[in-house]
Amino acid sequence: MTEQKYNEIDIVKIEKTKINDVDFNNIDFGRKFTDHMFYCDFVDGAWQQPKIVPYQPMTIEPSARVFHYGQAVFEGMKAYKDSNGNAFLFRPEDNHKRINISAARLAIPEFPKEYFMKGLTTLMQMDKDWIKPGAGNSLYIRPFVFAFEPAISAAPAQAYRFMIICSPAKAYYTGKVRVLFAEKYSRSADGGVGFAKAAGNYAAQFYPTSLAQKKGYQQIIWTDANTHEYLEEAGTMNIFFRINDTLITAPTSDRILDGITRKSIIQLAQDTNIAVEVRRISVVEIKEAARNGSLKEIFGTGTAAVISPISAFEHAEEVFEIPDASDSYATLFKKTLMDIQQNAAEDKHGWRYEI
Ligand code: PMP
Repeated sequence: MTEQKYNEIDIVKIEKTKINDVDFNNIDFGRKFTDHMFYCDFVDGAWQQPKIVPYQPMTIEPSARVFHYGQAVFEGMKAYKDSNGNAFLFRPEDNHKRINISAARLAIPEFPKEYFMKGLTTLMQMDKDWIKPGAGNSLYIRPFVFAFEPAISAAPAQAYRFMIICSPAKAYYTGKVRVLFAEKYSRSADGGVGFAKAAGNYAAQFYPTSLAQKKGYQQIIWTDANTHEYLEEAGTMNIFFRINDTLITAPTSDRILDGITRKSIIQLAQDTNIAVEVRRISVVEIKEAARNGSLKEIFGTGTAAVISPISAFEHAEEVFEIPDASDSYATLFKKTLMDIQQNAAEDKHGWRYEI
């Protein structure tokens, strides 16, 4: 971690808020941004003065290394508001830890915790009106850092920009999703960058996902790159399988992102005495469970959608429909977690962080 004395943030406020231009009942996710953004540059071996300014375009040289070598990592997190107007983040220190784990893998300098937390909370306080109360409403927060240095030799940059931008959101996916189990393409490999939120991980998924979409599947569930026999995670979600009354999810590894929703669901299952197994899950096991009726549910977990129930999967040209579970764990955990996030339930693990 870069040892550095924290400097107070320089703040330039917007002259007139843009909030009245946004129809909060009709949000096209990720296209509208709040009034302000946070940024901090890394130059001469140190993070410089942190700043909050009106959200605006910025000037970057075409030679900036990020455009050529993809040296960039990001995070995704949310802020919520309760009916009394109090605003909360959910486990934000875990996002800070994770962006630095991602950064280290991409040879990007770590961003100090105090800068991250002060930047985030100050920005939230300034743009608090953009966080709307009500189930499913939230403010999506995108911290990211990229190689800013104008130089195109293939080497880690000497200069970086860390930023936080925010975009109002409603629930991400509506309804259940159909998924394809990967047989040819891979998302990550042993010793690779799958565990990092590296920008390029997402770019590399777009093409195979577009092929899956043409076949009528919204997402791919990635399998291990060596054998394609073990189920790992989806493009932006970890995956849980319920066989009879036991939940099963793959162990995190250098191929799988350590999802904050995933680990919260594991904890909630333990709190409610639902059996959870963290172990390898084979395609053969899940197909067999689907055939004999013991596969009750599959769902994805992630900040964007909280929980996305999966209604069907395809593997080797065979389609398996998963009937609705009468006592759905996905529904139970979604409600429990959203209630904790929105200050409508007890927070016994201290996950809420009041802004
Ligand atoms: N896997 C991948 C590849 C992701 O991009 C995400 C979204 N961050 C997740 C899983 C879910 O992680 P989290 O619960 O922390 O949002």
